[in-house]
Amino acid sequence: MAQVNVFSDVDDILEYASTAGGVLAYETVKRAYQLACEAHAGQFRKSGEPYITHCIAVARILKDLNVDAATIAAGFLHDVLEDTSYRVETLRETVGEEILNLVEGVTKLKIVEDMTNRPYEDEAESFRKMFLAMAEDLRIVMIKLADRLHNMRTLSALSPDRQMRIAKETLEVWAPLANRMGIWQLKSELEDLSFRVTNPQLYLEIGSYLSEHQADRQKEMDAIRKKLDGVLREHHLPATVLGRPKHIYSIYQKIRRKGLPLEKIYDIRAVRIIVPEVADCYSALGVIHTTWPPIPGEFDDYIASPKDNGYRSLHTAVYYEDGRPLEVQIRTREMDIQAEFGIAAHWKYKEGGRSSSYDERINWLRMMMEWRQEVSDPTTFLDGMKTDIFQDRVYAFTPRGDIIDLPAGSTPIDFAYMVHTDIGHRCRGAKVNGKLVPLDYVLKTGEQVEILTTKRGGPSRDWLNSNLNLVKTQRARSKIRAWFKKQDREQNLTQGRLLLERELHRLGISDVNFEKLARDMEYRSSDDLFIALGCGDLSIGRVVKLLSEYEPIQDELPPMSAPSPAATDAVNVVGLKGLLTSMARCCNPMPGDQIVGYVTRGRGVSIHRSDCPNILRTRDRERLVQVSWGAQIRTYPVPVHIRAFDRQGLMSDVTALLNNEGINMIDANVNVSHNMAYMKLVLEVRDLSQLSRILTRMENLPNVLEVQRVKPG
Ligand code: MN
Repeated sequence: MAQVNVFSDVDDILEYASTAGGVLAYETVKRAYQLACEAHAGQFRKSGEPYITHCIAVARILKDLNVDAATIAAGFLHDVLEDTSYRVETLRETVGEEILNLVEGVTKLKIVEDMTNRPYEDEAESFRKMFLAMAEDLRIVMIKLADRLHNMRTLSALSPDRQMRIAKETLEVWAPLANRMGIWQLKSELEDLSFRVTNPQLYLEIGSYLSEHQADRQKEMDAIRKKLDGVLREHHLPATVLGRPKHIYSIYQKIRRKGLPLEKIYDIRAVRIIVPEVADCYSALGVIHTTWPPIPGEFDDYIASPKDNGYRSLHTAVYYEDGRPLEVQIRTREMDIQAEFGIAAHWKYKEGGRSSSYDERINWLRMMMEWRQEVSDPTTFLDGMKTDIFQDRVYAFTPRGDIIDLPAGSTPIDFAYMVHTDIGHRCRGAKVNGKLVPLDYVLKTGEQVEILTTKRGGPSRDWLNSNLNLVKTQRARSKIRAWFKKQDREQNLTQGRLLLERELHRLGISDVNFEKLARDMEYRSSDDLFIALGCGDLSIGRVVKLLSEYEPIQDELPPMSAPSPAATDAVNVVGLKGLLTSMARCCNPMPGDQIVGYVTRGRGVSIHRSDCPNILRTRDRERLVQVSWGAQIRTYPVPVHIRAFDRQGLMSDVTALLNNEGINMIDANVNVSHNMAYMKLVLEVRDLSQLSRILTRMENLPNVLEVQRVKPG
């Protein structure tokens, strides 16, 4: 019976554990096994076998991948939290925190499988959790893959449509993941098992062709191996020559990719040569290429430039003595193990297996991202993976390699507050991948962020200024506010008053009735208004917005070229005043559309969309005039002075900021004396809010001391 095999597997696994990790590992794995037996007692699989056989099979697959003892123990227990009444505490007591974490990680991954039966509402969130669980510890993914492999092996117990769904998902998601992790063994078995379900006819056709020709093939391959072995020995190269098993799915893919019939694909023979040293790989290659003519374009050096998943090997193909092609892979033993076991191979050499170093994490994350891109069959539920789920998140690393999950657009300050509130408060600078960056730097996935802190002190009020884009997350914002709220009333009052006075001065506004302003903003007194400003409850931007209504900028400073009443608010005709305009009926332009004017005979200028067919077709190009939307572009020239320590690139930084804001500069005058730069600019500004924003942003440029609006006259 199958069960007998399964239980002798347990002995093998325990023996492996004790060789890998000694008595302690042996005891732990044994306890895990016993706990799994207890927990699953009385449960059966769809096939009718006791449930524990599945747990043993998963542990067995993991053992064959040479993983560490903790992973094997977790393999035994992987379904306990999900499918039994045993709880976290029992696991913690029996096998400890590390193994519990692995089991919990696998349980979280279940999200993917459950997704098919659930409404899609929190899909993005679920995928993120899954992704993070995976990124947390590679061993969790190993267990998941082993679980999936055994489920695929025993798939026939399920209903046909469940079989189909699971097989598709395996081909779509898990086999590519195994491939990304470089675990070739798992990948090919998962693929073949899935292919059997998704395309039974072709599977059978290819499979029976293979077994029909098995015997002849074996003979032929033995002869080739012997020949190669002899040739290499002559050149004193100690090598092992192996035939390469062909997998049904990979043959199918070759048929599809190369468009050749099955016989032709099968015809291609392949060997693998294992040599002791890297240098021997190239020697062996030389020998092969001088013995048989190489086929042009078939040589690849994956030793010099390894594949993304770490795969290293030399690939070539030659015309063998019978004139037919022979594919040859040449690699060292270590490369071979790496190729077969991928990431799992690390456990052979390294104890523990938890990949915590920054480089490994980065590699891992990169692999996950690429895997996500590979997942591309629209028929499966993983459609969601492609639709920007990760695009609105950023995954950055601490120097210790922990992953911090942030919304896209987050800055080092957000990162700091996510790590710890206190680190946020004391944040004064940041290094990204070892380089200093400004605090408004926008973090990208995969970057390592080191926060530079001061010993004492708190956040800056500037951080709450939304014009500066220093803080993106609500979490950071509320922590900063909370900090200022805790400051005493007097200090907030003084700070708030200073803040407002400074802003008014900058904007060139005088005679503001603070009491009225406070009441209009629904504060009891000006003191309360100042306190709200000081502690960050109220942003200066909101005050400016209100002031903008009190004192529209255009009232103080008439536009240089006021649009004539005839042109109304709707459209400005550039360079022409007082023209009658009307909207063309053929294309009905809407504010915001690209538009162009057409000078009619006696009806003024008719306004068309730039892409209007009538405009594109018209022959009288000289009648076309440049027009723009009036309401959108009604701006007012405002003189602004900048005082700064002169430096290279200052002016271009200012220009870049203005471009960014879409603000036109209609006059500029720069004076430099004694290393000080005085700039007099005239900007076309929409309103006070926009003016306030651009002043703040200019003031935050390096070397800039003061930026101020100048009242005319
Ligand atoms: Mn399972």
